[in-house]
Amino acid sequence: MTEMADEKTKAEALREQLLYKKKSVFETMSGTDVERAGEYADGYSEYLFRAKTEREAVKISVTMLENAGYLPYTLGDAVIPGGKYYLNNRGKALFAFRIGTEPINNGVRISAAHIDSPRLDLKQHPLFEEEGMGYLKTHYYGGIRKYHWPTIPLALHGVVTKQDGETIEVNIGEDAGDPVFVITDLLPHLGKAQGAKPLDKAFAGEGLNLLIGASPLLEEDGTPADGSDSVKLNMMRILNDKYGIVESDFMTAELCAVPAGRPVDIGLDRCMIGAYGHDDKVCAYPALTALIDSEDSAHTVICVLADKEETGSDGTTGMQSALLTDLIGELSDALDGNAALVRSRSMCLSADVNAAYDPLYSEVFEKRNAAMLNSGVVLSKYTGSGGKYSTNDASAEYVGKIRDMFTRDNVLWQTAELGKIDEGGGGTVAKYIANENIDTVDLGVPVLSMHAPFEVISKLDLYETYKAFLAFCK
Ligand code: MN
Ligand code: MN
Repeated sequence: MTEMADEKTKAEALREQLLYKKKSVFETMSGTDVERAGEYADGYSEYLFRAKTEREAVKISVTMLENAGYLPYTLGDAVIPGGKYYLNNRGKALFAFRIGTEPINNGVRISAAHIDSPRLDLKQHPLFEEEGMGYLKTHYYGGIRKYHWPTIPLALHGVVTKQDGETIEVNIGEDAGDPVFVITDLLPHLGKAQGAKPLDKAFAGEGLNLLIGASPLLEEDGTPADGSDSVKLNMMRILNDKYGIVESDFMTAELCAVPAGRPVDIGLDRCMIGAYGHDDKVCAYPALTALIDSEDSAHTVICVLADKEETGSDGTTGMQSALLTDLIGELSDALDGNAALVRSRSMCLSADVNAAYDPLYSEVFEKRNAAMLNSGVVLSKYTGSGGKYSTNDASAEYVGKIRDMFTRDNVLWQTAELGKIDEGGGGTVAKYIANENIDTVDLGVPVLSMHAPFEVISKLDLYETYKAFLAFCK
């Protein structure tokens, strides 16, 4: 061996200096980090199991915040530097924030994720029976591929407000021993005509009816009740026994069918998690835990967990509501700041997932600008479709600031677009926050089978995302 063998050639040195090469987490993470990432993923899986709907996500998030010393806050309340608060918006969206020690006029740091996921809501008149079988009619919520939903176990989650004003929680299908529900499908033997239809036409929204039972009400002597609707009557009797509700209460309910069961490890190496609802709890959880874990930060940090993202962010609990602006206004007033100035100096990470490159469907991706699994957290300068239509396109300067934070804290990150140009597209809450004059960029975890009842993420990407939010909070 000569000394020359250890020296880089000119080309090698220049290649390292001048060219970008996407790295994988396995090149950058230490053994301890991988171990920590595994433990972090366990905490996330438990959160995810308990947060299938936005209401459940708010509930478990509030518990985590209270355990960390956060206090309930209502608009107009006094706040103090170092104080930790949460604003529960109608039980469906949440603003958790810690007041910094620096002047509020320096701006605040906002991470905004959403906690609603695509699912099947029940209609207001859902219950019917047909040939001895009882069903609930659904109206799908968010972007689903309808063929995903038949023949998988489904659980019923949600709330019912009764005539007397009491709101009760419903959860059937998650506890050991609970029954589950299902949407049936044709057998292949009779599926010829259905199979010839285009994928998006083969299943109709009105066909997604939940099978919930198949036995009639029985009289005291054990004989089936006479008259019509005795199966429906039996289903209502069971629900009434358990929850004290009557059929008209469905009109004042928010019930939905979601995939039943717990998140599970995927792969022989257990390096991935398969579950319902990664979009967007896989960003909500790191955003929230990073807020809780960054106590020594001088900045005022706000973590927003929004509802209604999957249906366009409208309404009181969606990101288009005035509440974030109102909250910043209230905090600015309370801390002798100027709200408009505060917003203009604030920074936001719109925390949402991106599509992970899938080699089985390579035709829809542009490989050089796709998010790779196990290559860290994904930063998307813009989303939208049809020529960057309807997007917040973050400025080079702002993306540069975020890049600097990540570099200093050894966060492995990559940039990506959602698929090939004109292949489709999508949006996030980023534009609604940016429209309030707050610098915003999209950041999140790459997901395989996004919006399916069973989505897949990498544990190490999740951990890099947590590190990214930590870097942003401090
Ligand atoms: Mn999302
Ligand atoms: Mn989504």
